[in-house]
Amino acid sequence: MSNTEQKLKDSEERYRELANSLPQVICEMNERGNLTFINANAYSVYGYTPDDFNKGLNAIQMVIPEDRKRAMENMKRILRRKEEDIIGDNEYTALRKDGSTFPVFIYSSPIVYKDKSVGMRSIIIDITDQKKAEQKLKDSEEKYRKQNVFLNNILESLTHPFYVINVKDYTIALANSTASSEGFEHGQYCYSLSHNNIKPCEAPCVCPLNEVKNTKKPCVVEHKHYDKEGNEQFYEIYGYPILDERGNVVQMIEYALNISDRKIAQQELKESEEKYRLISETAYDLIGVLNKKFEYEYINETAFQQILGYSSEDLLGKSALQFTHPEDISSTAKALFDGFKQGKGGAELRFKHKDGHWVWIEARGRIFFDKDRDSKAIIISRDITRRKQAERELQHERDNFLNILDSMEDGVYILNQQYDIEYVNPSLSKEFGQFEGMKCFKYFEDRNEICPRCKNREVFQGKTVRGEWFSFKNQKTYDLIDTPLKNPDGSISKLTIMRDETDKKQAEVKLKESEENLRVSNENLKKTLEELKSSNKELEQFAFIASHDLQEPLRMVSGFANLLEKRYRESLDEEAHDFIDFIIDGTTRMHNLINDLLTFSRIGTRGKVFKPTDMNVVLEATLNNIRISAIETNAIITNDPLPVIIADKSQMVQLLQNLISNAIKFHGPVPPKIHITGEVKKDEWIFTVRDNGIGIDSKNFERIFVIFQRLHKKGEFPGTGIGLTVCKRIIQLHGGKIWVESELKKGSIFHFSIPRNQNEVSTNKKVLYSN
Ligand code: ADP
Repeated sequence: MSNTEQKLKDSEERYRELANSLPQVICEMNERGNLTFINANAYSVYGYTPDDFNKGLNAIQMVIPEDRKRAMENMKRILRRKEEDIIGDNEYTALRKDGSTFPVFIYSSPIVYKDKSVGMRSIIIDITDQKKAEQKLKDSEEKYRKQNVFLNNILESLTHPFYVINVKDYTIALANSTASSEGFEHGQYCYSLSHNNIKPCEAPCVCPLNEVKNTKKPCVVEHKHYDKEGNEQFYEIYGYPILDERGNVVQMIEYALNISDRKIAQQELKESEEKYRLISETAYDLIGVLNKKFEYEYINETAFQQILGYSSEDLLGKSALQFTHPEDISSTAKALFDGFKQGKGGAELRFKHKDGHWVWIEARGRIFFDKDRDSKAIIISRDITRRKQAERELQHERDNFLNILDSMEDGVYILNQQYDIEYVNPSLSKEFGQFEGMKCFKYFEDRNEICPRCKNREVFQGKTVRGEWFSFKNQKTYDLIDTPLKNPDGSISKLTIMRDETDKKQAEVKLKESEENLRVSNENLKKTLEELKSSNKELEQFAFIASHDLQEPLRMVSGFANLLEKRYRESLDEEAHDFIDFIIDGTTRMHNLINDLLTFSRIGTRGKVFKPTDMNVVLEATLNNIRISAIETNAIITNDPLPVIIADKSQMVQLLQNLISNAIKFHGPVPPKIHITGEVKKDEWIFTVRDNGIGIDSKNFERIFVIFQRLHKKGEFPGTGIGLTVCKRIIQLHGGKIWVESELKKGSIFHFSIPRNQNEVSTNKKVLYSN
């Protein structure tokens, strides 16, 4: 081999070694495409064996059938060119022996021998990774494009400023039209726009861009911006990071929410909270806030310290029920439960003071919702210990009062303003049964609603009402007194006292009847009296005329009897003289009778002029008239001082004369002893004429006062039997009575009464007659 040939061979050898060591596929082919050389890598990439190569492989087999036409055309084109024109812009899909494919990029150049293309040399590069990367890029570009469109649409639809800021230089990359309208334009610096700064904002201003850059997470910060007019505006800035492939924040989406109104409202709220806190702190009442577990979340400490001795520390976080009196826990818990349900409520309870004693408080609560929408109760309470004390005392008084009512004989009930009968005393329930707790209109009237002309309303307004009520239940009539009754809680009840007046009513009816009867009989009596009066008058006239007219013939009889005796004394015998004596005696007696009758008949018609009459003077005149008979009988007549009375003086003389004459006349064996008294007894004068005479049998006490009634024969004692009748008549005319007390042989006492008159005076004059 020549030196040149050897060199060439060496050079070829080196070329092959080089080709085999390359990671790409390198192959050579003749002008028909039959492969004349493939490097070692070609076997491993395509899966062919040296045996396959030796049997003959065509370059066209190394691409998929779809690419073969283009490959052949390109081959022809390359073969026509010169070596230096390296053609290599063709991408194909390579086909392995096993049928699998992969993308390749083929650089080809002609093999020129003696100025003629004899074949072709190709470098085949597997571009699977590059393709994948390209596809990925393409996909991601598409994704970003779509996202961009989407984002743009969103941004434009937002009414708030929305913009994207480049992290590296604080410039605006993108802005929606709202942001643009506020001056946010592409390329401007964010700090100059919203903060009027010439460089990025520094502390204390919190820059959302720095936040997002440092944390790589979204952030929310509050910012004070200035609008185009330079007015202060509060914004809530929402910043979202945009990361690059390496995870660095390259841009930030900023969304700015104008919260100026909210800020003002918050400020106002803060001020109002402060105001209420001040009010609460200075209030005298206890103000507390309880949560749903009834735990204190707030108290106005000053009032709590003052009234209950507690500081915030003592109560906050603790349940109010912990401090409630055991007897009030259930009612207080119920009030709180109901309050939370209904929105408001109240209770009265005993709350433990820090020093251990109990304080009565009245609590009123309302429910509100805090900023977390949790319901809370604000409770305002006041110390009512004094009021409770007063109520207890009032209650005690009321209990005492009820005890009194319990023991009353009259029926009593108490009605409250809701028309419930609250109390019925035993005596009323005995009569009507127990009806406590019923509505009054139901029990008394069997109605289901208030009676139309109900008088209770007047009583509830403070008026006392009296009335009468007939009960159909027991057929009795009651006198009612309805009185307003003030209760411990200030309300007014009605206290009714019912007195059974049935008997009284019946008695009233009877009284009315008997009054009527009395009136009728009075009228009858009056009529009879009138008749009697006129018949009496007639009788008196008759007696007077009779006695007067009888006098005349009597005088004639006695006159002729006397004449007869005088003239014929001598010629008449003894018997005739006796007869004449009888005639004269008879006429004398007749004369006395007629005189007495005349006196009697005159009593009613004469006198009647009642004047103050000194009975001592009367007695004196009487004694003068009877002087002779008194002397004859040795009578001793004494008297007590007698009063002055209103009477007819001459009739009084006639009265005493008859009584003293009888006392003398009916004396016994001893001389008469007569004593006269006159004394006051209640509203009348009582006179007595006492003697020591023969006395009168009690069976004749009435009889002796009847006209012409005598107890003795005419020979024993003289008289006509008219004297006591005259006395009785005189006493009757003076409105008094006459009666006798006597025992046979022991003497008699004649009593007579004369009604007293206020103007009378008693004298001390003593009349004493004795011989
Ligand atoms: P007279 O005296 O004319 O008989 P009176 O009417 O005075 O009539 O008395 C009626 C009767 O009463 C008397 O007859 C006498 O029996 C009785 N009498 C009256 N006074 C007394 C007296 N003092 N003592 C006893 N008897 C008396």
